[in-house]
Amino acid sequence: TYVITQPCEGVKDGACIDACPVDCIEGTPDTPMLYIDPEVCVDCAACTSVCPVDAIYPEDEVPEEWTSYIKTNADYFGRS
Ligand code: SF4
Repeated sequence: TYVITQPCEGVKDGACIDACPVDCIEGTPDTPMLYIDPEVCVDCAACTSVCPVDAIYPEDEVPEEWTSYIKTNADYFGRS
């Protein structure tokens, strides 16, 4: 799966939502950021290049300081 990390907070550009072929990126006006559903993501990487703040990484390449976001994304969808 891919994971959205800290740079998205307060940005929520949303280009990733339009780019995702399986509609697995969600958030609301009340959430601090957007999230990827790990059970639906098909690892196509389409979201990474359109993110204006480079917030999205493959799960195994998330920078050390942001690994907690793996759970943050999963938790949003009740996956953990
Ligand atoms: Fe959607 Fe592809 Fe990004 Fe996964 S990697 S969240 S399927 S655009």
